[in-house]
Amino acid sequence: MNMPGYVIGADIGGGSARVGAVLPSGVIVARARVDSSPRSGYKPLVKRVRTAVERIMTAQKAQPMAMCVACAGAVDFSRNVISRSPNFPSWRDVPLAEDLARGRNFPVILENDANAAAFGEGWIGGARGWPDFAMLTLGTGVGGGIVLGGAVYHGYNGMAGEFGHLPMSAARLKCGCGRTGCLETTASAFGVARLAAGILNTKQGAALHRACQGTAKKVDAKLVADLARNGDMACKTIMRGAGTELGETLGALTLSMGLTRFVIGGGMAGAFDLLKAPMRKGALARAYTLNARSLRIVQAELGDDAGMLGAARIALGAIL
Ligand SMILES: [Zn+2]
Repeated sequence: MNMPGYVIGADIGGGSARVGAVLPSGVIVARARVDSSPRSGYKPLVKRVRTAVERIMTAQKAQPMAMCVACAGAVDFSRNVISRSPNFPSWRDVPLAEDLARGRNFPVILENDANAAAFGEGWIGGARGWPDFAMLTLGTGVGGGIVLGGAVYHGYNGMAGEFGHLPMSAARLKCGCGRTGCLETTASAFGVARLAAGILNTKQGAALHRACQGTAKKVDAKLVADLARNGDMACKTIMRGAGTELGETLGALTLSMGLTRFVIGGGMAGAFDLLKAPMRKGALARAYTLNARSLRIVQAELGDDAGMLGAARIALGAIL
């Protein structure tokens, strides 16, 4: 009996890589996780991913129709290399797709991981069926991707959708990129935790202080969200501020690109119930062209699989 055709989606993160065999319907039939810590070097990583693909091929008794590998970093599509990656500082112009395709009879496509995650959400996730939207991923920073006309919009070096470094934060805090006022200084999981840690020893931070026993390191976005849900004013203010600035960013995207649909993912999307109302308000206040009926803001649905599934969809697109 012939096995149904499948593709492979791979999502290389700064700690682990996900590799999955995916059917054209979006069903994951096999998956593997391999170590991808930056310490171990480029060649051993390529070898581990190749081994994971081999195992999948053996188990499926067939080779995939195509593969797409999604990875953090700037992608030079004209040369098919990752020119630089924040997760792998030693990489310079690495031909990741070529190295994974060597000796194989199927094509391997390269993509930026945030773009792939957005594409995955547009395929079978929260943005399903939307031809035009942006995804914002709220994690350590604020990343994202843009889908236009049902295709990933790459922009310069595949880096369109770097929303975290737009100057949307009123607090003018210093960002990891060296500038001040970047959105992610206040509206990422890290930014929210840092703002909360900053008020730990003040009167309004009393509930926070009790919840983390006065230890700043124990303050994270989830704790801030939990306290906000319990009615703590200071935590509510921090979450509302993050939501408002995210919303103003969405409004800026409406003004600049005409986008009205947005999907919110990443760890801090767990606080979507707290963020949604201020996000809507912020977007509508910022963009005079926007009306409440056209504005759609939804939560991502694919979790940590978004990048892998989006990569699989990109691989499918290359052969169908
Ligand atoms: Zn920045």
